[in-house]
Amino acid sequence: MLDADFFRRWMTATAAAVDREAERLTALDSPIGDADHGSNLQRGFTAVATTLEKEDPQTPGAILMLAGRQLISTVGGASGPLYGTLLRRTGKALGDAGEVSEEQFAQALRTGVDAVMVLGGAAPGDKTMIDALVPAVDALGDGFTAARAAAEEGALATTPLQARKGRASYLGERSIGHQDPGATSSALLIAGLAEANGE
Ligand code: ADP
Ligand code: MG
Ligand code: MG
Repeated sequence: MLDADFFRRWMTATAAAVDREAERLTALDSPIGDADHGSNLQRGFTAVATTLEKEDPQTPGAILMLAGRQLISTVGGASGPLYGTLLRRTGKALGDAGEVSEEQFAQALRTGVDAVMVLGGAAPGDKTMIDALVPAVDALGDGFTAARAAAEEGALATTPLQARKGRASYLGERSIGHQDPGATSSALLIAGLAEANGE
C-alpha cells in the first residue's frame, strides 16, 4: 500500500530532480521554446515542497491536490496548469483514503493524464509531456521501475517528432530533431515514483 509518506517522498524527490536538472530542461526549451522550462518547474516544485511542509496534508489525495494547486498558482508557463491538473485530478481520484494500492494509484494517474489531454488537447505523438506520461501509465501495472523506463523512452522518442501543440508547434518542421522539454520533465516526475518507493 502507498501511504501519505510515499506521496510526500514523491513530491520531494521530484523537486530535487527538477532542481538538479533545471539547466538541462531550460536548455532543451531553448531551441524549440522560450528557455524557461527548468526555471518554471524549479519555482513550482520548490513552492510545492514548501507548502507541503507548512500545511502538512494527511492523505495521498490531499497531498496531490495541494501540490497541483500550488503548481497552477506559481508556474506561469503552459506546463504549470498542465502539471497542476495532472496532480489535482490524480489526487481527486484518490479520494480521502489514508492509503491506496498501486493499482488504485495507477487508475488515478490515468484519470489525471486524461485530464491533461482534455485541457491541452494533445494526443500521443504531438511531441509533448503526453508522450512520456501515457507510456508511463500504460507500464505502471508492471511497477514503478517499468513506468520510469517507459517514460524515459517516451521522452527520447519525441526527438524525431514534429510538435503539434504548445510553443514548439510554432516552429513547424524546425521542431524536428529536438527532445521535448516537457516530456523530459515528465520522465523526472515518473522517476520520482520509483525513487519514493526505494527503487
Ligand atoms: P511555455 O511553453 O509556456 O514556456 P514551459 O516551457 O514550462 O511552458 O513548458 C513547455 C512544455 O509544456 C512543452 O515542452 C510540452 O511538453 C508541454 N506542453 C505545451 N503545450 C502543451 C499541451 N497543449 N499539451 C500538453 N503538453 C503541452
Ligand atoms: Mg517554455
Ligand atoms: Mg514560457
